[in-house]
Amino acid sequence: MYRLFIFVGRCVVSDNFDGVRGNAGLIDRLRQTLSGGFAGGAYVFCGGEGTGKKTVAEAFAKALQCEGDGSACCACLSCRVLKSGNHPDVVRVIGSNKKSIGVEDVRDQAYSFMCLKPFRYRYQIVIIDKAETLTPNAQNALLKKMEEPSGYGIIMLLASRIGALLPTVLSRCVVLRLNQLSEAEMAEALTFEGAKPEAASFCAKYSGGSLGIAKRLALTGDFEQMRLLASEIAERTPEADILGALAMYRRVAAWKEQIQRLLDMLYLCFHDRIVGRCAGQKDKISLARLFDGAEAVRRAKASLEGNGNFQMSIEAMLLAICGRSVNQ
Ligand SMILES: [Zn+2]
Repeated sequence: MYRLFIFVGRCVVSDNFDGVRGNAGLIDRLRQTLSGGFAGGAYVFCGGEGTGKKTVAEAFAKALQCEGDGSACCACLSCRVLKSGNHPDVVRVIGSNKKSIGVEDVRDQAYSFMCLKPFRYRYQIVIIDKAETLTPNAQNALLKKMEEPSGYGIIMLLASRIGALLPTVLSRCVVLRLNQLSEAEMAEALTFEGAKPEAASFCAKYSGGSLGIAKRLALTGDFEQMRLLASEIAERTPEADILGALAMYRRVAAWKEQIQRLLDMLYLCFHDRIVGRCAGQKDKISLARLFDGAEAVRRAKASLEGNGNFQMSIEAMLLAICGRSVNQ
């Protein structure tokens, strides 16, 4: 049988344990497993959103399959191809619907894979993210494989709620619990991956504790674009007329999915100007107007957090920043 490999994506050093921050004890334990030369047949990586369980599990899988010294060299064929999703001996099971991973998904994606011996590498690894959505039948199907250890098959379950996994499944797994990263650890992880220090510290603080969100914000250019927009609103809107202020709405609405972060940045812009003015810096806008601007942002945030109408909340904020009220 011939298999076609398509190389996409790139391998970077941050994909191995060197790029992981926090959870030092757990990483040490995995490193010891690697140096011991034999891994267990099933693992549960358990932790809330943003604890990095996917990063850690993927780094572990990469190190297990590495053709180098066993620490994920990022240079060998296995390391290079793993991230692309085309690794012949690593499969990631995903649900055919968004709500759950059913027994058919496990059978179609994992069983057919596990029926074969490893194609080229030492282990045959099945990674299942959002394992808390596995149905009981799907978990029982996996349990059967766990009960017949092959010596090369490894199942990795990534779960945000360990209570969603059957006790019979858990009893067969090495359970690894991940803790939330501190802001400093998250900022360090972002800087390691190439984020500018300013972006790293902001994104670590305002990503709701999720390393995934922080990475997307800090490393995709979103941070810079949002920062520029927030700065422009804080700079120009206080002096704009009503039409000018409302014209800004469309640009804000383009960031609807990340509106709380944009508003956090906007709040900081007003805060910085208030601090600057108090410290004696010249500003064409009065201190009272700057406070009004910051207060308008706070109100918009509270309104949206309370499921207020998006357009009404943002337009009321923009009008308040330019010195008008919705009652005028
Ligand atoms: Zn390697």
